[in-house]
Amino acid sequence: MIETLQDKIISWDGESVVVAYDQPTGTWIFIAIHNTTLGVASGGTRMKSYNSPVAGLEDALRLAEGMTYKWAGVGMSFGGGKAVLAVPGRLPTRERDGLLDRYAERLKSLKGAFQTGVDMGTTPEDMIRIGAISGHAVGVREGQSADPGPYTALGVFVGMRAALKYHFGSESFESRSVLIQGLGDVGLPLVDRLKAAGAHLFVSDIDEAVVAKTVEETGATAVAPGTVYDMPLDIYAPCAVGATLNPDTISRLKCAIVAGSANNQLESFSDAKALQDRGILYAPDYVINAGGAVAFGHIHQGERDERQLEAAVEKIETALNDIFSEADELDDSPSRVAHRRAKRFLDEQS
Ligand code: NAD
Repeated sequence: MIETLQDKIISWDGESVVVAYDQPTGTWIFIAIHNTTLGVASGGTRMKSYNSPVAGLEDALRLAEGMTYKWAGVGMSFGGGKAVLAVPGRLPTRERDGLLDRYAERLKSLKGAFQTGVDMGTTPEDMIRIGAISGHAVGVREGQSADPGPYTALGVFVGMRAALKYHFGSESFESRSVLIQGLGDVGLPLVDRLKAAGAHLFVSDIDEAVVAKTVEETGATAVAPGTVYDMPLDIYAPCAVGATLNPDTISRLKCAIVAGSANNQLESFSDAKALQDRGILYAPDYVINAGGAVAFGHIHQGERDERQLEAAVEKIETALNDIFSEADELDDSPSRVAHRRAKRFLDEQS
């Protein structure tokens, strides 16, 4: 059966969905507000080309729910929401700018019911543009755009520390082998932090130029994309795309820990159990990759001191310490524990 936009919305457990169509560019706009128990719905704006409008809506609904758990997982006062601009293809700059302006007008009309930041396909500069019109962009400081990547990298770094401590009894990175898959906004600052901490670095990316540059600058060892899952490692850090943890890869993995920034790392929820059964410690993605969201949330609430922002992000280490301990006590997977903790937090606040 082919599902329609209507079917998707009917079967969703979120609060509301704004659906609009941008005539000049042929773009479907979906703003999904999943749960506002903790505060105003806040999440990124993704601009992407999908096979169908339904696929774009589906992404918005799934990502908005993910934001509810991300905010609850780190105990921040924001609700879960996400926007998707399902563009028909790559737009020329003028058309793209026009679309963003009209999208910003729609956000303005929502009068703060949804506030947004960068996501796949949008840039910090886009947020300045959207913020100037709508007044509801996060991560823009004094008219300057901030990059969430380094904050997300810090969160992943301290999350890895929690995982090392739990798994090996020592949080030291000295000589620990770590493979970073994806050398982008998060992967590159993460490489720098790991190098400074003394880790033995392996790097992989489909972009050969960025791999060559990173190898030259850091002395890391390059790994071909096809062999990432067969490498004996202490930590595998997925920082590129989702669903890299699936029945095929999990049976091949030879790492002790999976800890990285990518969203939706598990292809399906049962993969968490498969990792647990193989004795591989998995740091739930929406907790370990919340650093950018945490920092931007604090910036939005008026925090300006860089050290305070970093301290807020570093609390991800405590959250993961607690999740790993509870998983150990209950002989459960960290994913299930994280989900239950977030739900508990939401219930307590409602
Ligand atoms: P990015 O686009 O800046 O970088 C991604 C990198 O991964 C690129 O260098 C790309 O060439 C590479 N890549 C793509 N497909 C690959 C593959 N199959 N194998 C190896 N490399 C591949 O993205 P980013 O902002 O660094 O984000 C990385 C991941 O973390 C994404 O899944 C993103 O959703 C997630 N995330 C990012 C942030 C953030 O603050 N940027 C926050 C939370 C989650």
